Amino acid sequence: MRRLEDKVAIVTGAGRGLGKGIALKLAEEGAKVVVADMASADNVVREIEEAGGTAVAFSVNVAKQHEVQAMVAFAIEKFGTLDIMVNNAGINRDGMLHKMPVENWDTVISVDLTGTFYGTQEAIKYMREKNYGRVINISSGSWLGNIGQANYAAAKAGVVGLTKTAARENARKGITCNVICPGFIETDMTVKLKEIKEGTAWDSMISRVPMGYAGKPADVGNLVAFLASDDASYITSEVINCGGGMIV
Ligand code: NAD
Repeated sequence: MRRLEDKVAIVTGAGRGLGKGIALKLAEEGAKVVVADMASADNVVREIEEAGGTAVAFSVNVAKQHEVQAMVAFAIEKFGTLDIMVNNAGINRDGMLHKMPVENWDTVISVDLTGTFYGTQEAIKYMREKNYGRVINISSGSWLGNIGQANYAAAKAGVVGLTKTAARENARKGITCNVICPGFIETDMTVKLKEIKEGTAWDSMISRVPMGYAGKPADVGNLVAFLASDDASYITSEVINCGGGMIV
């Protein structure tokens, strides 16, 4: 029995990486998925359709409020409702705080934090009307602080505060809001470490993972599918790590 039959989901940043893994998993569980990304997401839609699922691509820059509003309106018009909002789109611009250009601060905050605010707010406005919803926001283990990631850590800590507040404000409206903190997952965002100093940066990250290997997007997808399902209906305001035991 598929857990998300007839549910409608939006996943941002779903053209590749974690978002793609999440979209594939939600579709496998029966959800109709809006695969939203700034870049092309057609390949992900094709993969879902080839596996017998239902999906449609939507082009969005989550840092632009009117585009996020249009995305939510599109999902409701296309599939009749919105049940699951996954704010996954995120970027990093790493560098030591004392050398960080303000542009790198602003860019990361605007996508990772403000983009998540827009997505959470717009989804919740609609979910409150129907007294049902699942908001799942993707933060990072770095939210607790990580060398070279002042902008990213601040944004991802902001996502935790935003989501916990949304959870409390909407707990009596049938809406759950939770945060997932992936550890070290093999995607385009992390695989570039393999090229730094002939792979030593990658090896050093792996050495911090007690399980001894990088996670896969599907590992995060499995957790999202659980939180989106009725199996998780009494779970809200939580911050859940998915990182093979890794502590940043
Ligand atoms: P990725 O770079 O592989 O993919 C990110 C996707 O988001 C891309 O398809 C990109 O086009 C899209 N995107 C970027 N900016 C956007 C914008 N403004 N609007 C819409 N789409 C946009 O990254 P990933 O590793 O898949 O990361 C996904 C999320 O998981 C991010 O929020 C990231 O911070 C978080 N995360 C990743 C890891 C990891 O180990 N990979 C660990 C912790 C947290």
